[in-house]
Amino acid sequence: MLTYKSPLEVLERVFGYEAFRPGQEEIIRHILDSKDALVLMPTGGGKSLCYQIPALCLEGTAVIISPLIALMQDQVMALKESGVRAEFLNSSLSYDKEEEITQKLLSGRLDLIYVSPERLNSEGFKNILKKIKISLFAIDEAHCVSQWGHDFRPEYTKFYILKDLFPEVPRIALTATADLETRDDIIKNLHLENCRIFISSFDRPNIRYRVQIKDRERKQLLDFIKNEHPDDSGIVYCISRKRVEEIAEFLNGEGFKVLPYHAGLSQKEREKNQDRFLKEESIIMVATIAFGMGIDKPDVRFVAHIDLPKSMESYYQETGRAGRDGLPSDAWMVYGLKDIVQLNNFINRSNAPEEQKKIEKRKLNLLLGYSETVSCRRKAILEYFKENYPRENCQNCDNCLNPPVTYDATIDAQKVLSCIYRIQNERFGFGAGHIIEILTGKKSEKVLKFNHDKLSVFGIGKDNDIHQWQSIIRQLVILGYIKVEPEYMTLGLTGESAKVLRSLVKVRLRKYILQPKIKQAAEKQKTYSLNGSDTELFAKLKELRLSFAKAENMPPYIIFHDKTLMEMAHKKPSSLEEMGKISGVGETKLKKYGKAFLEKINQKIIPAAH
Ligand code: ADP
Ligand code: ZN
Repeated sequence: MLTYKSPLEVLERVFGYEAFRPGQEEIIRHILDSKDALVLMPTGGGKSLCYQIPALCLEGTAVIISPLIALMQDQVMALKESGVRAEFLNSSLSYDKEEEITQKLLSGRLDLIYVSPERLNSEGFKNILKKIKISLFAIDEAHCVSQWGHDFRPEYTKFYILKDLFPEVPRIALTATADLETRDDIIKNLHLENCRIFISSFDRPNIRYRVQIKDRERKQLLDFIKNEHPDDSGIVYCISRKRVEEIAEFLNGEGFKVLPYHAGLSQKEREKNQDRFLKEESIIMVATIAFGMGIDKPDVRFVAHIDLPKSMESYYQETGRAGRDGLPSDAWMVYGLKDIVQLNNFINRSNAPEEQKKIEKRKLNLLLGYSETVSCRRKAILEYFKENYPRENCQNCDNCLNPPVTYDATIDAQKVLSCIYRIQNERFGFGAGHIIEILTGKKSEKVLKFNHDKLSVFGIGKDNDIHQWQSIIRQLVILGYIKVEPEYMTLGLTGESAKVLRSLVKVRLRKYILQPKIKQAAEKQKTYSLNGSDTELFAKLKELRLSFAKAENMPPYIIFHDKTLMEMAHKKPSSLEEMGKISGVGETKLKKYGKAFLEKINQKIIPAAH
């Protein structure tokens, strides 16, 4: 077996990378010094190397606890491709395979063993652990220990035992969940009191955040995908099974390769769809939140929310599935008044205790505040997680690229509120549509039926069009000056409305502009701006990669990431030595694939002589 001198050597020779990412080296050194660590790093930050490299530097086997079978398989496959001796143990294995792996483990022929939480807790496995040399324990997705989180796993609460059983073995807990409650829970439950905490920035600089008003959602979604991601993999999040089915069918009809994913599908179908999403290219997954945890696919180029998520945490987590490979990616969302009412409705109707409902409503409101914000979205996201973003302008969100216009909307607000006031005591409630008809002086059948054309407020809002009024009303709902009765979506005044009507407060709102166009110049943000012939070569290399992937029945990104292929297409290495210098080409992959890719590249640039 190979022995490595330093973490940097492992990074270069095994993984083919030339430099550590921020934080990685320090964490690795800490583990090599046999100390415990809690690592908080965003998705795509490079957590895996923080335990994989020590595993290769230290004597013995590293035990990695991971809650998701799919994730384990993926990681082990990727490690094996890089020539690392890794295996996993979970319920998906046959008896014979399990025996084989256990033997490898017992005879010290593994550098890493991935196990499920259930397995780790079993007496049988603990007995095996007592017989071998363990280099470290890595507890991945450590937030699963927290009852408050979204992925609570009771098995995780028993891991504190590792400290008693193996006091000398360093433990590293890792998570991409940023909030403070979860962090405290991890430390408490895993008995990590003396550990060092490593916190990276949670910024995802390669993700461009955009939020638009839902106007014609299907057209908006279609325009977004057609114009910006016609051949890419992406996820479209919807609120319900029914919505998933509808949107999937729609996109399918538009000629895209689309798969649905929600809890109503059988486990088999879900697995099949997930597998295809990982292994094929250019697939759009239309899904509920049931989809995503443990999806390690690095080249998801966009995450679209066609319905609102329920909190900032969900939004961050779901959008975070885009661009793990660090290449430019989009987080795109549309929402409207109906979404707000619907989500509030869900909360009201749930069986949760009142206290819980209150928390959920507060979380929803913070998300709505984010949606309507007129300043940098990145800053808003990071501040939500108590991180200070040092700049005012990130140059990579809609508000920074295309600053929205705000105006003093006190008079507009007063017009709407007085209109609601005039009609609120009638026998029927009225929705936004009707109120807007009155304001804009439209003599519709319904307006005439209720004699609302006789009201003093009739036609006082002709200077705004219907979209502008919708936007004003939506913002006033979010600000708490209008309430919406959930069943019929009728509007009413709130305790705060009087302050506006009496001019005690000023109201500043965002001016409505339909689908702001991102400036052309700012649109391209590519790492390697591939020119025409490079793009062609990149496509060829992807084809070659896909043929290898198919032959070995593994996702293409396990072989090489897009980033690696782009670098190949750009630099066009002409020898194996040059090929070895491409980021992501380690020694094992160079041996296995170097020649084939080299030939493809050079056949492309030197046309055969006639
Ligand atoms: P996380 O688990 O934090 O979401 P990963 O460990 O999967 O992130 O890493 C994300 C991607 O970044 C992976 O494709 C990984 O190979 C790559 N990566 C990690 N560290 C480095 C590095 N030092 N240099 C280049 N790429 C890296
Ligand atoms: Zn910004």
